[in-house]
Amino acid sequence: MARIHKLPVSVVNRIAAGEVVERPASVVKELLENALDAGPTRIDVALEQGGIALVRVVDDGGGIEREDLPLAVTAHATSKLRVAEDLERIETLGFRGEALASVGEVARLVIRSRPPAATGASLTVDGGRAGEVVPDGGAVGTTVEVHQLFGNVPARRAFLRSPQTEWSHASEAFVRTALAHPDVAMTLTHNGRRVHDLPATTSWRERIGGLFGPALAAKLIEVSASDGELSVSGLVGRPEDDMAGTRLQYLFVAGRPFRDRGLLHAVQEGYRGLMLTGRQPIVFLTFSMPAEMVDVNVHPAKMEVRFREPSRLYKLVLAALRTAFLEHDLTAPLLPPVDRGVVADADRLGAVGQSPADVWSRSTVGPPPGAGAARSAEPAVFRPWEPLSSRAQGAAAATPAAPLWERDDTTGSFAVEPPPARERAVQMQDRYIVVECGDGIEVIDQHALHERLLYERLKASLAAGSLEVQPLLIPERIDLSPTDLELITDHAEPLARAGLRIEPFGGGTVVATSKPVLAGSTPAEEIVREVLERLAALENRGNPAVLVDEVLHGLACKAAIKAGDALSPAEVEALVRDRRVVRESHHCPHGRPTSLVFSRAELDRQFRRT
Ligand code: ADP
Ligand code: MG
Repeated sequence: MARIHKLPVSVVNRIAAGEVVERPASVVKELLENALDAGPTRIDVALEQGGIALVRVVDDGGGIEREDLPLAVTAHATSKLRVAEDLERIETLGFRGEALASVGEVARLVIRSRPPAATGASLTVDGGRAGEVVPDGGAVGTTVEVHQLFGNVPARRAFLRSPQTEWSHASEAFVRTALAHPDVAMTLTHNGRRVHDLPATTSWRERIGGLFGPALAAKLIEVSASDGELSVSGLVGRPEDDMAGTRLQYLFVAGRPFRDRGLLHAVQEGYRGLMLTGRQPIVFLTFSMPAEMVDVNVHPAKMEVRFREPSRLYKLVLAALRTAFLEHDLTAPLLPPVDRGVVADADRLGAVGQSPADVWSRSTVGPPPGAGAARSAEPAVFRPWEPLSSRAQGAAAATPAAPLWERDDTTGSFAVEPPPARERAVQMQDRYIVVECGDGIEVIDQHALHERLLYERLKASLAAGSLEVQPLLIPERIDLSPTDLELITDHAEPLARAGLRIEPFGGGTVVATSKPVLAGSTPAEEIVREVLERLAALENRGNPAVLVDEVLHGLACKAAIKAGDALSPAEVEALVRDRRVVRESHHCPHGRPTSLVFSRAELDRQFRRT
């Protein structure tokens, strides 16, 4: 056995860095916490390359005294705690004194700071080596720059994902923090582009609107409940405005976002019976309680907290939601969707990053009114955009046609022509749909039409930056020929933009780690092969826009219902109705017609009526 010795400080710091600094998002979070602890009125965040190349956070807070600069970057040095008892009542976001030291160990860290009524100074730490404190002009407050994260730690750098993925995590870190501190004006810029510009406000709704779009914010319902010194308040989505995932569920305590499965379970309970199983509500909740009732020191990155009385909080959440739903008379079970025309701001969501959720534009359709008892036997969610054949037919019979398409004023790709009240439509031969039209009858190719609708939808949400992407919990492995492997590797970027993320897995194998939600249950492999065929056939592969478009075509083609798929009457009706809101629905993306019209005049002539 080797002898035991104490580790040098830099090794200790680097080990700590492993816990605190995982990726650019962690840097954003730590720097924002530091800035907020300094009591600023505004904070500007700028990133380059998803934060890998640069994270810069500028605040106008209290600054750091010149002689304290070297301490700020020293491990376990903090201005926020003095004695162990302080840990019982933490009132600042930081307290571990580790962040700057850790970051300085694994990147080039530049701090410029000027307290009010003092001169400014700056200090650079590069890979753990601190330079001299030098005088530096500049405004009151602090600027911290982190250049080339893990530039000196290749093993860790290798674990970073693409700038795009890092960006999505980093922007999410910004969003969470911005939600927790509406009273501070905040901006976020990526590669020179302003993504968020949030004025200071006392209204949480306004801050939420700034981040996710005013339309979403306007629809949220206020909730609150208290029990002695514990209280919860916030804004939550109406039951019918449900989501596929938990991305819009935010919990805060003492100015920090946190995760807590127990409390999210309470949220689910609150919506029970009002929302289809498997769907998720939108919630923004803030808990307040005396500092000693919550322990924030249980997680190195402070992502989790521990409450002294979790069950009281659980009940509080439940009470808050239930009271609000009663007041708003939302407790009628499973309301069919009403007033779902709130789409206009979904594009803002795209900027948030990660899986930019196409929040309002994915339509979910409730079961037929009065079908309550039969519901449990049916699939819980009616997804018009999935291949339809796999679904049970039962729910369909008397359902009013589902709005597959919703108004989307931002993209302009939807015509304004309102659908007529109801059209008679019948499926024939499991492949054509026949409807009466103005001056005759129309025969629609169900696959061609659905493909067109899907394609337009994909294109519109991509343009709006709100393409909803579904990460694959179990990535799908796909074995490829060397040519295909090269083709897919060369075009991973346009594929990823279209929501199809493909990563090398070694040898001729790749894994698909995400696909657009609109692709439904279509296996990623099917889509990838289709896209490969299209890419191979393309003459000009240099134009990224053309490539992305081709990917969308491939996706739409594979995810659309096929000729031979039997449709329920409701599905038929939905398809027929939605063709009216999409421009060019009369041609499938290949240019084949989606429908043929036989005019009455023509029929009359054929029957020799004229
Ligand atoms: P902690 O935040 O846990 O105290 P950090 O390593 O993040 O530890 O920061 C060390 C110290 O540097 C802080 O305690 C604070 O005094 C000072 N500091 C860091 N960033 C700022 C800032 N933006 N404005 C003012 N002081 C700062
Ligand atoms: Mg800190």
